[in-house]
Amino acid sequence: MLKFAQSVHRLGTESAFEVLARAQALSQQGKDIINLGIGQPDFKTPQHIVEAGIKALRDGHHGYTPANGIPELRDAVAEDLNRRHGVEVNPANVVVVPGGKPTMFFAILMFGEPGAEIMYPNPGFPIYESVINYSGATPVPIALEEANGFAFSADSVLSKITPKTRLIIINSPANPTGGVTPKEEIDKLVAGLMDHPDVALLSDEIYSQMLYDGREHVSLLQYPEIRDRLIMLDGWSKTYAMTGWRLGYAVWPDRAVDHVTRLCINDHSCVNAATQHAGIAALTGPQDEARAMVAQFDRRRRIIVEALNALPGVRCADAGGAFYAFPNIEGTGMTSREAQDRFLAEAGVATVAGTSFGAWGEGYLRFSYANSVENIQEALRRIREIL
Ligand code: PLP
Repeated sequence: MLKFAQSVHRLGTESAFEVLARAQALSQQGKDIINLGIGQPDFKTPQHIVEAGIKALRDGHHGYTPANGIPELRDAVAEDLNRRHGVEVNPANVVVVPGGKPTMFFAILMFGEPGAEIMYPNPGFPIYESVINYSGATPVPIALEEANGFAFSADSVLSKITPKTRLIIINSPANPTGGVTPKEEIDKLVAGLMDHPDVALLSDEIYSQMLYDGREHVSLLQYPEIRDRLIMLDGWSKTYAMTGWRLGYAVWPDRAVDHVTRLCINDHSCVNAATQHAGIAALTGPQDEARAMVAQFDRRRRIIVEALNALPGVRCADAGGAFYAFPNIEGTGMTSREAQDRFLAEAGVATVAGTSFGAWGEGYLRFSYANSVENIQEALRRIREIL
């Protein structure tokens, strides 16, 4: 009998990967599947970024790099943040990791232990709750409501802080809802946090460049008063269609940099060198392809939101960011899971049940519109037939 640690049984998962596996299995059986389940751009990484990665390999960048990332890449990140958010970031506070996920894993492990409380958005990216449970801390959900445009309410977050609260996780623009939290709520949250100087903040800004209808991103880095306890997560996966390269970063407060660097050394040593060079090209090279991608997403967003609202029993809020629509399907009489399973089995359309993002996701379904307009229209046509 193998005796696994209890903690292993507390780990959750990201169901989008399971849906992807089921969709691929059905595809292999010859079924015509349209995948609106997985959250990754359907575009290729821009060619100049690919070339930079290849060149780095040809130039002999085959060895370990500093655990926190090569200096040129951390400089490029600091300059990019200055350009986009108008903030000064010391490259020494930038820690490059393999994707967006390692930052949340490390941040949660750094603060989470039995007896501690960590707040996280629900419905939200499922890894937050999973890793909080894994750490032994108590997950305290921040309920996100459709009526509020799936933005968090600062008052509600602040009211849940207790002496045990160590870390608050926020995510705007958000997965799975596409919700964007307005600046006034963020202002209010930051002001309220002044009464709680021992509470750290993890701001997941991975969708910071995917905003629509003239919205501008508000980065938590723009609030100097919380810099000493802010972890700001961003990366290349979504912006530059680089999910498979595994490259991300966070800006860490001074007092956490050593801790996270040691976590990197214990975990993965460093991100592979060629990928880091590709990351420099992404930040310092032309941005037109990344912008064109967002324009495409915007077009699809309008089409999918309108088409979802035209389905019987379905209503869909106008998502302001990311590339997800999160319609309310209660009027269909199906639970989220039933709708997910039936749409896949009977219509060949992969979506993800709202409950995969936490209990507050019941009654909703996530549609990723990282797919062609033709496929989106065909998927919605098939779903309409079922309904
Ligand atoms: N944060 C959010 C909110 C996400 O939706 C995702 C990916 O779906 C990530 C982080 C992780 O990104 P990565 O693939 O770079 O680990």
